Parts: sequence; C-alpha cells; structure tokens
Amino acid sequence: MEGKSSQIYDGISSYGSFSPLNSFFRMPLAWRFNRAPAGVEVFFTTRMGGASAPPFDSLNLGFHVGDDPELVIRNRTTVSEICGFDPASITAPRQRHTGAVRLVEQEEEIGAGADREESVFDPCDGLVTAFRHVPLLLNFADCLPVVLATDAPRPAVAVLHAGRRGLMEGVIAGGVALMTGLGAEPAGITAALGPAIGPCCYEVGPEISRQFEARFGREAVQGESVDLAAAAIIDLKKTGLAPANIHLLDICTCCDKDFFSYRRDGTTGRHAAVAWIR
Ligand SMILES: [Zn+2]
Repeated sequence: MEGKSSQIYDGISSYGSFSPLNSFFRMPLAWRFNRAPAGVEVFFTTRMGGASAPPFDSLNLGFHVGDDPELVIRNRTTVSEICGFDPASITAPRQRHTGAVRLVEQEEEIGAGADREESVFDPCDGLVTAFRHVPLLLNFADCLPVVLATDAPRPAVAVLHAGRRGLMEGVIAGGVALMTGLGAEPAGITAALGPAIGPCCYEVGPEISRQFEARFGREAVQGESVDLAAAAIIDLKKTGLAPANIHLLDICTCCDKDFFSYRRDGTTGRHAAVAWIR
C-alpha cells in the first residue's frame, strides 16, 4: 500500500473495494463499500453537498458540534435519500471516546439519536445489530470508522468509533465479540475501514506514542505519530479476521479537504459511517 511500509498492510485491499457516489454536480457525497456481504449496505459520507454554513459546511451529520439541529436533520435526510434508508430509523449513540459497544436488540431502541444528540446508547462508541432496516450511524472527524459485517449464520452489522482512545480501550474486540455473540465466526466477518487521520498528520508526542506502541506494537507508530488504521488491523487480525476480508479506504481526513478534520480545523462538522441490513 502506497506510503505504508509496514507488513501490517500486507494482503489488505484498498481503494478497489470502494466507489464514490457523486452528486448531480459530480461532488463525491459518499463512498460506498462494494465488498459487503449480501444484504448489507455500507457508506462513508464526505463533507460535500449539505446545507450547513461554515464552520460546519456543509454535510454535517453531528448534533453535538454546535450546528443548527434543523440543518443536521436536513443533512441526514439528504444522505438517507442518496444512500437509500429511512432517516427515522437511524440509530446513533452518544459517542464519548470509550471502548463501549452495545447491541441494538429492542424495537424501542430503533431511532435513538436519529434527530437529536441524546441517545439511550450513552456512553457508547459502537453499535451492533441483527435487525433489518436499522441504519447504524456514527460521527467522525479524524477518528477511524470501522464497519463489521457478516451474512452467516444471519446478517449482522457493526459500526465502531475507533479513535486513539477507543482503540486503546478495545472497541474493536468489543465489536467483534458482540458479532460472534450473534453467531458469526470471526473468519466470516468482513471489515471496512473508512477515512481517518493518517500518521502523516497525527503527531501525538512521545508519551502517547509510547503508550500506543506498548499496546499495539512498533508497526502502529511512526516516530511520535500514531497509525489508527494499523492499530485497528492489528486488533482485527488478533480477534480472528482474515486479512483478505479487511478493506481500507486509504484517505487521510486531515490531508483531504473533502472530509471534516478536528485536527486541521478545530470547531467543525462531522461526516459519518452508516451501515444497515437490507
Ligand atoms: Zn494526512
């Protein structure tokens, strides 16, 4: 993989597994993951094509950043129309950079966080479900979105908020554990890693980079910068996923201005990973 020297990336597929979904004006509104198991849909949105004003311009999908909630709802509706899901069924947690992952298993939990910041899933940085027609939506602006999906023994999907702290707290293992609790074999799980800040832009200093190295090994650290995708891949392999089933949309959110970046812009909007079972 270009620019990545580490063996961690051997056998991991990249851009070829994703395709851009463009607007009428040829703006990339989202990236679709094309290797999901049958019946599962996975999208990673960009910041393009929404209604929000600066500094949330324009496709901000997060309620917690200070944007007008009516515009966030309008943006979520725009995404639902493009991608093809019911916006009233969006199920979203209140993310707090933890390792907490929860199962959506009660009918009354569907729609939590669809139109507001508050959610019954709080604190929570990953959702898993086997329900059909329940789009799990999590927000990002540099942290790594990790979507897990399987179709055996029945379809199940997970969306995980894998930032530096969530990874340290085991959000990957937590997500895989809930998937296996639904009957999935780790070797039958496909993972899609969306856009996130790359080691090119994520210098964290000596103390945090040493902690990260102690937890994930030398390959997850470059100098005093951390590599979120490498750390996620290390944990995905450790939990039993096959490298051939791990797909990385290798885009740095801090380098690429099509995406929101907290590191680059401070106060800004949030793009999303959204996945559901048809
Ligand atoms: Zn970068």
